Amino acid sequence: MYQDELLAKIEEAGLVGRGGAAFPVHLKWQRIKSLKNPKKYVVCNASEGEIGVEKDLYILKNYPEEVIRGLLLAMDFLGTKEAYINFNKDYYQATKNKIDPLLDLCRKKGYLVSIFQEEPSYIGGETGALLNAIEGKKTQPRPESPSPSLKGIFGYPVLLHNVETLYDIARVSMGTFKATRFSTILGVRNEGVYQFGIKQKVADILRETNNYPEFPFFVQVGGGASGEILTSDQAEQAVVGGCGSIEIYKTSTSSKQFLDKIFNFYAKESCGKCTPCRDGSWQLQQMLAEIEEGSEITWQKIAPIIKVMEKSSYCGLGKSIALPVKSYAKNILGIEI
Ligand code: SF4
Repeated sequence: MYQDELLAKIEEAGLVGRGGAAFPVHLKWQRIKSLKNPKKYVVCNASEGEIGVEKDLYILKNYPEEVIRGLLLAMDFLGTKEAYINFNKDYYQATKNKIDPLLDLCRKKGYLVSIFQEEPSYIGGETGALLNAIEGKKTQPRPESPSPSLKGIFGYPVLLHNVETLYDIARVSMGTFKATRFSTILGVRNEGVYQFGIKQKVADILRETNNYPEFPFFVQVGGGASGEILTSDQAEQAVVGGCGSIEIYKTSTSSKQFLDKIFNFYAKESCGKCTPCRDGSWQLQQMLAEIEEGSEITWQKIAPIIKVMEKSSYCGLGKSIALPVKSYAKNILGIEI
């Protein structure tokens, strides 16, 4: 398929990135292609870091040919022969028996696709941190300007896509694309990764997969840590965004149990580069540890820290704590923070 034709089909399909930002793929392609740099790279982000989210692992296990095909198509579009796959190292170990033979075939055709294995972490999937890691630097975010992708790796621009996006690109090229996405469903009787239409409502997905809870529940949608918290009624209208997850909690889950999960995640995953996130997440974790199960949550102390992290954190990881905490307080407890 000619490159312009593929680009038009990608635009027509309305393809957006599946790493969480949902940026239109055709615009990203055009932007990187228009740069005059003598060399460019394609990078596949295979570094899922949110709690319990494993849809990229599922795709790598079940559709490795499509992922590599999408990677090669992006390389052809840019006119480059070099690419990296930034792997969560556990994912690489789990899929190398399928991925390595495919990369050998690529090499025989003149494409050099290198594997970079990283320690599993949330920050390892952030664009600047990921590119720094490939360059051998500390896995920490870069300034937003110039865009980390433009500065790229070793000074050359990067077209970065996550696993699911490359899978979608391959399906567009093969004429088999459907507007679907994958999500990990957790906290239900049939936990696992499912594929469904992008417009399907969360509650309908739960029913279709025989996972609609028989108990009163609330749900976190779009990320095992950073996703929004919704009531079961709100789930009737909501669609899945973010990095693709649906996690069910019994309404009997205490605030301490729920916040423990969130605060421990952020304290563990903060890379330490900026004070609001580094100190804020540590303070939240300590504060909650001092609250006994069943005691009242001290929202008047928690709220200002969340606000500072949301407004002043250096990268999206620190900022993203606000959504689950604020939506939990508002939708489940009826408290505005
Ligand atoms: S918000 Fe700051 S400390 Fe947190 S991960 Fe980003 S750069 Fe690191």
